Amino acid sequence: MTFRQGGKLDTSGVSGGGSGGRGGRRGMAVGGGVGGLVVVLIALFLGVDPGQLGLEAGPTGDQGQQTGSAQQFQAHIDQCDLEQANSDTICRIVATTESLEDVWTTQLPDQAGMRWVQPHTNIFTGAIDTGCGAASSDIGPFYCPADQNVYIDPAFFDEVLVRQLGASPSGAAQMYVVAHEFGHHLQTMLGDIRRSQRDPAGPSSGAVRVELQADCYAGLWAHYATTTPAPGGELPLLESLTQRDVDAIVQTAEAIGDDHIQKSGGARVDPGSWTHGSSEMRRQWFLTGYEQGSMQACDTFRGQL
Ligand SMILES: [Zn+2]
Repeated sequence: MTFRQGGKLDTSGVSGGGSGGRGGRRGMAVGGGVGGLVVVLIALFLGVDPGQLGLEAGPTGDQGQQTGSAQQFQAHIDQCDLEQANSDTICRIVATTESLEDVWTTQLPDQAGMRWVQPHTNIFTGAIDTGCGAASSDIGPFYCPADQNVYIDPAFFDEVLVRQLGASPSGAAQMYVVAHEFGHHLQTMLGDIRRSQRDPAGPSSGAVRVELQADCYAGLWAHYATTTPAPGGELPLLESLTQRDVDAIVQTAEAIGDDHIQKSGGARVDPGSWTHGSSEMRRQWFLTGYEQGSMQACDTFRGQL
């Protein structure tokens, strides 16, 4: 994937945060939230069960301070331009959020008659206080429905996705992860995110259907990303998306399939515990969105998966 040279980048939708230091001291907590909304955060590849984690809700001792890492991230974000997004992970996250905004600002009204509201994206490391409670970057990228924010630790891509799970190191793979999290924001706007909490595990559970739909929405973004101009009739931010990019995304979708994660952790493959779907399912649903570009084609809630 190549971002256009010389384009402007709006960094206002992304900010730096976190307590610094890897491995949040208090682990992850869930809870809090706004009346009636789903409050449990939605992680990229881990099923989050508050009971299992045995963690406490509420603030960590770290909140309220702008730490070194938060300031460093913010300074990094502020100097990003579009060209840097081709080589720099943090700038790539920023540019991807803007490309997602362009696509969904057009597609959501066209396909669902609804106006897109951009979520805020937080780039952090260590621990961060969220509308879903205090969270650690150890759980990887996540979305919090209660505050409608996306949270990403940029170190996750290399340390976990590539080295532990064998995903592609390419920029396209990172962009797919951001697009997947934005898929959860779309589901929150449409009300579908609740389905994952009602039926949290199993190969055809609500949780798996929600995750596969987020993969499909990521594919839908990729379908339109190189042809959708920014509002005001400028050129698309993204100049190209090659077959190699699509292959890298598919490889990554497979790497974060539940069966692959269980196997690579030395565990038995146990579909009854799945929360995100198998490698094959994740590959299939990303490609469905990518090839068809249709939200209707991303209806994972009907029929067999
Ligand atoms: Zn997800």
